[in-house]
Amino acid sequence: MPQYDFRCHSCGGAFSLTFKTYAAYDAADPRCSACGAGAVSRVINRVSIAKDERDYSGMSANEMLSVLEGGDEKQVDAMFRQVGESAPATQPTVIPKQAGKSTSADDS
Ligand SMILES: [Zn+2]
Repeated sequence: MPQYDFRCHSCGGAFSLTFKTYAAYDAADPRCSACGAGAVSRVINRVSIAKDERDYSGMSANEMLSVLEGGDEKQVDAMFRQVGESAPATQPTVIPKQAGKSTSADDS
């Protein structure tokens, strides 16, 4: 049985309703269990949200390339963030300009 979580726009209360079928949900007019207001919106549960966010950390190079070529800034940003967190060693190392300069003074 599908269960849906709702949040009331009027009083801010949260409640959940269980429907026998998806058709029953479509036909239903959900109302707040606390104040009876009809201005309620469905709360998307965590599972649905997790589905929206792709797991870039397990991506192959080709998949990453396709994300980059896709040009979706949000996806590219999320990808780099995830890859950076899970595998910092793969990040390109920037070598400071002054590296190795101080040792030459001791040699002469
Ligand atoms: Zn309410």
